[in-house]
Amino acid sequence: MNKPQPHQLIIFAFLLSFSLANVVVSARLFPNVSSWLPAHAPSLGGAWDAFRNFTGCHRGDNYDGLANLKSYFQRFGYIPHAPPSNFSDEFDDALESAIKTYQKNFNLNVTGVLDDATLRQIVLPRCGVADIVNGTTTMNAGKGNETAPFSKPRFHSVAHYSVFPGMPRWPVGTQELTYAFNPGNGLSDTVKGVFAAAFARWAEVTSLTFRETSSYLGADIRIGFFSGDHGDGEPFDGSLGTLAHAFSPTNGRFHLDADEDWVVSGDVTRSALSTAVDLESVAVHEIGHLLGLGHSSMEEAVMFPTISSRKKKVVLSQDDITGIQYLYGSNPNYNGSTATSAPERDSSDGGSRVGPSWSVFTLLTFSYLYFTLL
Ligand SMILES: [Zn+2]
Ligand SMILES: [Zn+2]
Repeated sequence: MNKPQPHQLIIFAFLLSFSLANVVVSARLFPNVSSWLPAHAPSLGGAWDAFRNFTGCHRGDNYDGLANLKSYFQRFGYIPHAPPSNFSDEFDDALESAIKTYQKNFNLNVTGVLDDATLRQIVLPRCGVADIVNGTTTMNAGKGNETAPFSKPRFHSVAHYSVFPGMPRWPVGTQELTYAFNPGNGLSDTVKGVFAAAFARWAEVTSLTFRETSSYLGADIRIGFFSGDHGDGEPFDGSLGTLAHAFSPTNGRFHLDADEDWVVSGDVTRSALSTAVDLESVAVHEIGHLLGLGHSSMEEAVMFPTISSRKKKVVLSQDDITGIQYLYGSNPNYNGSTATSAPERDSSDGGSRVGPSWSVFTLLTFSYLYFTLL
């Protein structure tokens, strides 16, 4: 590598000082989830809970607040980003069409009606990356299920993984990708270890390797926790709702909602906190995007768009593995099974690998954060 020129060092120092001066982080770490509860009344609902009121709504009627549901569908690609974006509260054709496509993608009965099952799926916490990019659905249920639009798709062995339009990927020949954490977040080694474990799951099945570097600006993948509007047009929304998002190759940005109750270690399924979100599960999913995978319509896949709170899903499914190996080839040492080769990472051990004790939760909460450096 060439020696940096003086002017490059000055620019780097300026950018670093600018970022540190403008990032205000208040991170609280709680050794036990129960000690967290008295101080904060847990919000049982998520950002989209009001949508539950639309049960039974159908085409042709007006319903207060339906414009917000249209914004939801637009955000995830089901209604085109064409002007005008001032949505009405009328249940119109565009909304019905969006609901039908959504129902296909999520293996629901395709009715075009906001039935219970559809709304239960809609309000689940999810990834902020759209399911439909540039008008093309990235979820394969929407492509291969035309013959039976009104019935649930039968189980079959067709791949459901997807890639982004144009199939962006890290360049052929890439062996190692570096990643770094937003210095303003001041993350502990325990938290960083969760990300390392998530990267290792993808490294296990491909020839890619991942290495942490301290150079945030120079890293291929830049990881940070941000709150609300953080400058990329994809604002976070507080507890639940959108949990995180990441950009397709070779952008490298990986953002997590600082306002989630992230569980860093411990058995998230036993959390008393209804809003607890498993950090490693979300990290494994977002890394899939960073490497070029879109969403999968297979519910067992890590690349399925939604994940319930208090749920852990970190083991790559065959669908995820087939997808990533389609992009990068296989790891010569991969023996064909992650579930048996890495049992210590499954939920059965409660995450003891990254925590001091399986029964101790570590919650990471950022109450306030400004972000200027993308
Ligand atoms: Zn996603
Ligand atoms: Zn972002």
